[in-house]
Amino acid sequence: MSFASLGLSPPILEAVIAQGYDTPTPIQTQAIPAILEGRDVMAAAQTGTGKTAGFTLPLLELLSKGQRAPANQVRCLVLTPTRELAAQVEESITNYGKNLPLKSTVVFGGVKINPQMMRLRQGVDILVATPGRLLDLYNQNAVKFSQLEILVLDEADRMLDMGFINDIRKILALLPKKRQNLLFSATFSDEIRQLAKGIVDNPVEMSVSPRNTTAETVKQWICPVDKKQKAPLLTKLINENNWQQALVFTRTKRGANQLASHLETEGIQSAAIHGNKSQGARTRALADFKAGTIRILVATDIAARGLDIDQLPQVVNFDLPNVPEDYVHRIGRTGRAGASGQAVSLVSADEFEQLSDIERLIQQLLTREIIEGFDPVHSLPESRLDTRPFKAKKPKKPKVEHRDGQRSGTNKQGNSPSSRNRSRSRSRSAAPAK
Ligand code: AMP
Repeated sequence: MSFASLGLSPPILEAVIAQGYDTPTPIQTQAIPAILEGRDVMAAAQTGTGKTAGFTLPLLELLSKGQRAPANQVRCLVLTPTRELAAQVEESITNYGKNLPLKSTVVFGGVKINPQMMRLRQGVDILVATPGRLLDLYNQNAVKFSQLEILVLDEADRMLDMGFINDIRKILALLPKKRQNLLFSATFSDEIRQLAKGIVDNPVEMSVSPRNTTAETVKQWICPVDKKQKAPLLTKLINENNWQQALVFTRTKRGANQLASHLETEGIQSAAIHGNKSQGARTRALADFKAGTIRILVATDIAARGLDIDQLPQVVNFDLPNVPEDYVHRIGRTGRAGASGQAVSLVSADEFEQLSDIERLIQQLLTREIIEGFDPVHSLPESRLDTRPFKAKKPKKPKVEHRDGQRSGTNKQGNSPSSRNRSRSRSRSAAPAK
């Protein structure tokens, strides 16, 4: 299968070749023809599958055929949950559309609104936006939707997790009824299907394997270690292996700040990114990391979601995530598009339950390696593989990330997060011992 056989025209094919891609990924093979036919699409695909090009390439093809956007109008709207993802999607649009006379721009909060209003004044063919800032712009008459042809919701599950449902509903009410709709999400929970009902019309559904089934290029291993020894152990691993670029995950924002400061005092250039950092600080940290002036980027799960950092060789789980699927998302940051990588997790005895859940999800026992001088006093129990399939339905994800990284918000049943956690741990401990 080649890109040319998918129905894309030469200006786009040339831009794709310039990116160095010769074969479409599975999501691209499925999504591109359906979108070109004008169908609505519901696609289950995570970051790392090539989903961005999967919708961007056919969008560019369709939009290149029509009239340019009049003043303040938008022909295609792409909504994303985070500012970083919005910026990355717009970068892809610019790259793939470089041989076309189409205009695109990106708007998100945390930066001045005036320059964004100026850019919208001339009309744009593709607007990439986060929901809150888009509504601000609409309320200030900077953007009009009466000419909108296509709506894309990217990472729809994250948008719900991050509490954007009301903003999304407000935006949907502003759009013309007749339009093409593309909905991308890592998973299709009941909540997403409910949302989709009001958006897509007779969609083509498609799904590609998540990273955990295709990540043979990622070497995964764990270092059992006492909690207090994690920071010195990480310093040793960075120095002894001479890691030049690593993305390190912590569970909490405070933990991310503390670790980045610790590494700095050890002479390792580091920065933390999380929801409490200003947009400027986040953009700067990401740019410095990409440029190589920062070696270690310490991030929380939500902040790291959707970051496209090419060919990252090293991911470190400083803490294991509470939600096992987040482990798969995290290690999906490395070994992308055929590049090899390694993911190491520093695991203390109190994280055994999370480790067991992860091993059950990925159906694999992770290799253990104790680093000399870091033998844990509190030893990590041996794992046994639980071969019962993980329940398909994901546990509810956080609505908001708090200062301490705990989750808040209530789900539809009105359960508090603590009651959800309690029921999760009950169901874990109720599992028969193997
Ligand atoms: P995404 O899932 O959109 O975040 O894309 C993941 C990564 O795969 C990005 O770094 C893309 O540049 C890369 N990519 C997208 N399509 C292809 C392809 N057909 N061949 C190789 N790499 C690709």
